[in-house]
Amino acid sequence: MSTFKAPKGTYDLIPPYSAKYLAVRDAISGPLRLSGYGYVETPGFEDVDLFARGVGESTDIVTKEMYTLTTKGGANLALRPEGTASVLRAALEANLHKAGGLPVKLWYSGSYYRYERPQKGRYRHFSQVGAEAIGAEDPALDAELIILADQAYRTLGLRNFRILLNSLGDKECRPVYREALQAFLRGLDLDEETVRRAEINPLRVLDDKRAEVQKQLVGAPMLRDYLCDACKAYHEEVRALITAAGVAFEDDEKLVRGLDYYTRTTFEFVHDGLGSQSAVGGGGRYDGLSEMIGGPALPSVGWALGVDRTVLALEAEGVELDIPPATSVFAVALGEAKPVLFGLVTELRKAGVAADISYGGKGLKGAMKDANRSGARFAIVAGDRDLAEGVVQLKDMESGEQGPVAVADVVGVLRTKLA
Ligand code: ATP
Ligand code: MG
Repeated sequence: MSTFKAPKGTYDLIPPYSAKYLAVRDAISGPLRLSGYGYVETPGFEDVDLFARGVGESTDIVTKEMYTLTTKGGANLALRPEGTASVLRAALEANLHKAGGLPVKLWYSGSYYRYERPQKGRYRHFSQVGAEAIGAEDPALDAELIILADQAYRTLGLRNFRILLNSLGDKECRPVYREALQAFLRGLDLDEETVRRAEINPLRVLDDKRAEVQKQLVGAPMLRDYLCDACKAYHEEVRALITAAGVAFEDDEKLVRGLDYYTRTTFEFVHDGLGSQSAVGGGGRYDGLSEMIGGPALPSVGWALGVDRTVLALEAEGVELDIPPATSVFAVALGEAKPVLFGLVTELRKAGVAADISYGGKGLKGAMKDANRSGARFAIVAGDRDLAEGVVQLKDMESGEQGPVAVADVVGVLRTKLA
């Protein structure tokens, strides 16, 4: 019989390894949940035009990386390659921007899909936690998001990451710069695709990773020299607020990022232990996106952090996450003791103690093996004679010490010992 494998570029999260992913998602969302961000969940697929317009026709995501499909009903859909366009679509559809005060602050967590060349840290199915603050132009909001991401990484124990920061200007100054850059790029010796890119989105050529392109970009006009006064002042305020929070960052004039919708503040979190897949997260301000997808003007800012790469970064730094064992108490029932111990396990679980029991009618040896394998701190062992005396044997799995405890006291005693 043939067997199946996970599709190319994907992998399964399996215990105990999968616990790291849960811990990373928790750590990233924790600071957001303490900062007024509400949880939002959107479908795994959307109208393909949402991404074509919202992410940008000239981006790698839209031109090469989207999984598209036509339904039996004739709708053109795409598996979501990123979160921002969907979250903004959902906020607009629910009129969240009219319901209460602005900004609308939302966070999300989920699966994203890109048809990429699979390699370490680059998959066709991956996982992000993201945050969006919709409908306010305030440097404190840009700063807040950068500070919260920094806090999330630090809570996890990550140290060797850097924050790269830039401003992409706005609709006043960016067009002027764009033209200057285009004029410069037209004078270079570039391949056909890059020439085309230079016409559609010249800023993205700056982001080209190829050495032969980078070599020619020396002397290119820099956006910093074209920023209007409003953009300059805005950027300085963001920088001052982050600095005051004690968060270190590097100014990176070449940082443009792959999406078309960014304006002003742009940032990326990079980790130096990940080789060429160094970006663990990124984001920025996207003041024009709402209008691009048919909404009102809603200046917004957000980020998305990659869970897969964050896990790899933790491994690269040798950080061991403090993940509590899945099971604290393991029950081993002998003779006719199963119903009583099963009842105790149920009570322990109700009391919030992680408890499990041996299944499959094993003898003492096999059941104790299960107890050891579970990583439990304590085992409760009982046979007919113990129950006749109204006790179970409580075994400390670390010291090996063992003694009787009255059945009625087991839950209380264990809660105290584990507290
Ligand atoms: P890259 O330049 O590495 O392709 P990106 O700019 O396309 O990254 P974003 O769209 O900003 O990435 O997504 C935010 C984060 O999601 C990235 O920093 C990364 O951690 C993660 N990510 C993006 N694409 C992938 C992928 N194919 N596999 C795993 N993680 C990914
Ligand atoms: Mg990419």
